[in-house]
Amino acid sequence: MSTAADFSQYVLPTYGRFPLVPVKGQGSWLWDDQGKRYLDFCTGIAVCSIGHCHPALTTAIRDQAETLMHCSNLYQIPQQAELARTIVEDHVKLPGKVFFSNSGAEANDGLIKTARRFGHARAQTSGEARYEVITFTQSFHGRTLGSMAATAQKKIHEGFDPLLPGFRYCPFNDLSALEAAISPSTVAILLEPVQGEGGVNVADASFIRGAAALAKKHDLLLFFDEVQAGFSRCGHAMAWRAICPEIEPDGISWAKGMGGGFPIGSFWISDRLIDDNRALSSLMNPGSHGSTYGGNPLACAASLAVLNVISTENLGNHAMKMEAFIRDEFAKWNTPVLTELRGIGLLLGFAIDSSLVPAVEGKTAAQVIVTKLMDQGLLAVPAGPDVVRFLPPLNVSREEMTKALDILHYTVNHL
Ligand SMILES: *Cc1c(COP(=O)(O)O)cnc(C)c1O
Repeated sequence: MSTAADFSQYVLPTYGRFPLVPVKGQGSWLWDDQGKRYLDFCTGIAVCSIGHCHPALTTAIRDQAETLMHCSNLYQIPQQAELARTIVEDHVKLPGKVFFSNSGAEANDGLIKTARRFGHARAQTSGEARYEVITFTQSFHGRTLGSMAATAQKKIHEGFDPLLPGFRYCPFNDLSALEAAISPSTVAILLEPVQGEGGVNVADASFIRGAAALAKKHDLLLFFDEVQAGFSRCGHAMAWRAICPEIEPDGISWAKGMGGGFPIGSFWISDRLIDDNRALSSLMNPGSHGSTYGGNPLACAASLAVLNVISTENLGNHAMKMEAFIRDEFAKWNTPVLTELRGIGLLLGFAIDSSLVPAVEGKTAAQVIVTKLMDQGLLAVPAGPDVVRFLPPLNVSREEMTKALDILHYTVNHL
């Protein structure tokens, strides 16, 4: 049986899959079963942050796998403690505590649960708990029942109602709409500093600052979903610091790039005091949350290796240099199909004028272009119907970037 036949027979058809069968990866390159080589600017959707099969990562995984892969969170896992310290001290740089999950959706569920706890700890004057979390149009927070309900996109909800209650959706980057949406039951604001799936939309500094001020005024928690944008993807360790570095959030979620391909997610909760003697982080007390796999020695060893490479090779700085290079090159092009380059660092989206893209039945303009790029040997990712996303490894070379830009330029000129 072919892989495609096995897929249609045995795998739930939840994904529209491109006809590509990947078999090998090295650095910025991916090979298919026909021996064709692709420049991989999909990286498993911003996951392979230090490229495929980086020796520091494969060695860390092999060594840890030979020593101890899994034990329970009933014990004091040293790799988990070290990873938590690294994340807090070297990346977040604000006092707080971390929980380890296996994915981004689970990390967001953890933030939502923390918001619920906070809503009980600091209830309405009537004594009723607060519970409503405000999220934003075009957001993407994941596919669990909680994170799906947090995601303000109709197509994600279709046919799954009744959704988990307790979310209110607001237009992104619209501060007055946010202010108007706050009610006595509101307890938190959850936003992506740079929306990935929703089309690579960067939050305005004034919007984040305004949201932080409203959070303070109304005693709300401010959460950042950095599942896609975090850990130097946007040039800074934390994406919001590329926009408004002085802001201090109450919670942050991550996954994707922090494991470099090994499944791991995480959320951080601030140690700030919510009243005279309680830290916010203390609300998630023993018994309140858990995960059998979360933070096991193997996943933490992998993530430690990835974060170590990102820090020691200063890949955030490299990401910013690469962004500047791409913007310089793009500014020289005369390609009306590409109307705009959005994003920060190496979370970038080329907006498309769909009217200039030949229509293909059942495909968005972004899918049409991504398919053509694939034919030319470049993997990119759609972000919504009319944005093509570039998510190269953070250690992509200038030569590889030049090649990818050449392919994009050629392709949009030969639609
Ligand atoms: C991918 C993504 C998620 C979901 O992560 P999973 O690991 O697929 O559960 C959540 N938030 C954002 C911003 C994402 O990009």
